[in-house]
Amino acid sequence: MANTPASNTATSSHALPSYLNPEHLGAWGIYLQQVDRVTPYLGSLSRWVETLKRPKRALIVDVPIELDNGTMAHFEGYRVQHNTSRGPGKGGVRFHQDVTLSEVMALSAWMSIKNAAVNLPFGGAKGGIRVDPKTLSRGELERLTRRYTSEIGIIIGPTKDIPAPDVNTNEQIMAWMMDTYSMNEGATASGVVTGKPVALGGSLGRREATGRGVYTVGQEAAQHIGLDIGQARIAVQGFGNVGGIAAKLFAQAGATVVAVQDHGGTVYKAAGLDVPALLHHVSAHGSVQGFEDGDTLPDAQFWGVDCDILIPAALEQQITAANAHLIQARMVIEGANGPTTPEADDILHERGILVVPDVIANAGGVTVSYFEWVQDFSSFFWSEDEINARLVRIMREAFAAIWQVADEHRVSLRTATFIVACTRILQARELRGLYP
Ligand code: GLU
Repeated sequence: MANTPASNTATSSHALPSYLNPEHLGAWGIYLQQVDRVTPYLGSLSRWVETLKRPKRALIVDVPIELDNGTMAHFEGYRVQHNTSRGPGKGGVRFHQDVTLSEVMALSAWMSIKNAAVNLPFGGAKGGIRVDPKTLSRGELERLTRRYTSEIGIIIGPTKDIPAPDVNTNEQIMAWMMDTYSMNEGATASGVVTGKPVALGGSLGRREATGRGVYTVGQEAAQHIGLDIGQARIAVQGFGNVGGIAAKLFAQAGATVVAVQDHGGTVYKAAGLDVPALLHHVSAHGSVQGFEDGDTLPDAQFWGVDCDILIPAALEQQITAANAHLIQARMVIEGANGPTTPEADDILHERGILVVPDVIANAGGVTVSYFEWVQDFSSFFWSEDEINARLVRIMREAFAAIWQVADEHRVSLRTATFIVACTRILQARELRGLYP
């Protein structure tokens, strides 16, 4: 495939490997398009933009484990450090059967943007293993996690790159990661991962932080478009740590959660789903399937549900050119990373639907990860009220700054967030200069 003129700059005279090509489909291709859209707004810093179009470092690891039945299985794992100009790499680890290198590259790049957008002193990184963790026993999952941590141990560390939970990973997995890294180092290194159990140096409020951040920016955005949260009808895709918590907070504020979709199906109730009961059902049965206090909808009908706020909080590329015209909401708040394709972004924009992009909407998780990392370094722990208050302040200030940039340049909130973030990253890049 030929290089496009955009990639054929003075700094990249050689043909790009296929996975870096802007025509590459999937999450990485989407990220590259987002960078291209922002480049005209970067002024003289645009001479450094190529640095954003390739990860600094990508490690592919073989993760062999012994299964409970005595046979051996091999899984492929990754850790990608997209950029470290503003500080150590930071970003989660996902365990999912569809994980690929280029997906992890895109997720690591979105972490660079997100961390810079809320002005955390971190670069961007992400990791993953291509595995369906539901097929593993607890012992197999622990062995998988420990071997993966050992393999990526050569590039992570409290001042180098700090993993955290993401899709299908949790506090227990972070505890195993912290322990494995610490055993290899010969010293307990609690700051090597965030999202740990509170008993191991984790932070109060971390588990709810991403959902709380989604709710906070939702409140701010609603004010701007004159939407009363107390009267709003909400539809949520994904009912885990992000969608479940966000739905709970919106419902507590008086909103009506009319539809919830997850991997098990779609439930709908025009008068409002009982969110605590649905959370209880999901923790007992693993999905919304079988919840009796509501109707079951065919999955495709979820997108056309009559609502004011749509929260995609599952996986990438859910809102596409095929369903964007069905959406009834006045705004979309991206709890997931990369849920909207660029074509769908344009359709929503033309239809006057406000999109609050992932790189600000779901930044609450990594913001409290930052608090956890700071607490671990100082071994001094804050109260939950203090954490939530600081989280809300950072999210509100970041959102207000991005709204102003969007207004100034007449661009979408996504492009505005990229302008703010890329400017910060490339300023740091320029100040540090090239080594050697
Ligand atoms: N996985 C989360 C995200 O996508 C959190 C990352 C972190 O806390 O480092 O933002």
